[in-house]
Amino acid sequence: MAENDLMDKLVSLCKRRGYIFQSSEIYGGTGSVWDYGPLGVELKNNIKAFWWQAMVLERDDIEGLDAAILMHPRVWEASGHVEGFTDPLVECRQCHRRFRADVPEVEGGQCPTCGTRDAFGEPRLFNLMFRTFMGPVENAASQVYLRPETAQGIYVNFLNVQGAARQKVPFGIAQIGKAFRNEITPGNFIFRTREFEQAEMQYFVEPGSDDEWFEYWKEARWKWQLSLGLREERLRFQQHAPDELAHYAKVAFDIEYEFPFGWKEFEGIHNRTDFDLARHQQYSGKRMEYIDAPTNKRFIPFVVETSLGIDRTLLVVLTDAYHEEVVEGEERVVLRLAPTLAPLKVAVFPLVKKDGLPEMAEKLHKELRAAAVPSFYDAAGSIGRRYRRQDEAGTPWCVTVDGQSNEDGTVTIRDRDSLEQIRVPAEGVLGWIRERLR
Ligand code: ATP
Repeated sequence: MAENDLMDKLVSLCKRRGYIFQSSEIYGGTGSVWDYGPLGVELKNNIKAFWWQAMVLERDDIEGLDAAILMHPRVWEASGHVEGFTDPLVECRQCHRRFRADVPEVEGGQCPTCGTRDAFGEPRLFNLMFRTFMGPVENAASQVYLRPETAQGIYVNFLNVQGAARQKVPFGIAQIGKAFRNEITPGNFIFRTREFEQAEMQYFVEPGSDDEWFEYWKEARWKWQLSLGLREERLRFQQHAPDELAHYAKVAFDIEYEFPFGWKEFEGIHNRTDFDLARHQQYSGKRMEYIDAPTNKRFIPFVVETSLGIDRTLLVVLTDAYHEEVVEGEERVVLRLAPTLAPLKVAVFPLVKKDGLPEMAEKLHKELRAAAVPSFYDAAGSIGRRYRRQDEAGTPWCVTVDGQSNEDGTVTIRDRDSLEQIRVPAEGVLGWIRERLR
């Protein structure tokens, strides 16, 4: 399958099955923003819950936080984003479209949009932060930013959380939330957008122990990625070269996935040193030191950050799960999502719409829903078609109520991947599924 083909197919499957829609589609859409539909929002929630479970709920040394998107504008001066969060840009003198100066399309000097030769002057720096105004007056004093990363909400709350939760260094703070970047060249579906979600964790450690903790988090995050059920050969670490390092970082590794459009980052692990806390101490005039009890040792902790893009992870999960295959002479598209991530765990079908089968199927469907197992009831079309729809949606199991169900109370469970069918008593379905979701 050609590479672009796969992306096109994924985009259309996402629309057809209700995973992802283009934002404001009826107005022609906005190229860089997407909306998550009924299945998309569930998949996204499952990815977030999976991350939260591993990073917060299972650990004594990490606390959760949900900081606001709008922050004091000085935060972004302290963090270096006002000054340094910029991409070099060139602008076409003919059509005035702007492009990142470092992309291959503009290297020859020809505008990729209108074809003008020698189209570009000197690159100019362009800040990626969205700006808006707080309150009724629109002037420089009321200017605020939409956060370009969630991490700063964690830094400014470092001592609040540490004190309230009575944590001792080393410990971490985690949060999931929206971030905004006025990207110059968004694209590749939900890979690079202007509004996206991040799951970030800042781990505060004693200076000198940061290299060790960096290795720890590199390994922990790699294991988590594998636990999503991804193919290991499509994952790799990539270290940032010294000239690629962000202004705050001492060492940085990306976890990359082999997308149809090449190897690309979807999580970053960064040693941010004491840069952010030290700068906040300097800019706010408030101490950001940690005081160790009982030694009374004072220091500004170093920070190891893990920064995951939720939307990019969702794209990784969907890309990795997408398969086309021929089954019994018929082509099928199947999303082999890990059952824990799949938006629907099960679909329940009556084989035919008579003999009390729909009632029995609906009863089972309702029992599953009531037990918090997302189930879908479908009585429309041939059984083969109903299976295909669920294969495309990534539903791991389909339960069919048939003639025999009336006689002995059993139903069939069909496995999405192996296509194997087994018979179990209807009242055993819930337990059977629960066992496989652990
Ligand atoms: P890139 O080099 O792709 O622009 P970055 O190095 O700027 O990414 P970080 O600042 O390290 O990215 O952000 C951490 C994570 O946030 C990334 O790994 C990615 O998953 C996500 N992310 C960053 N920018 C975007 C974006 N524009 N759209 C979607 N996700 C993003």
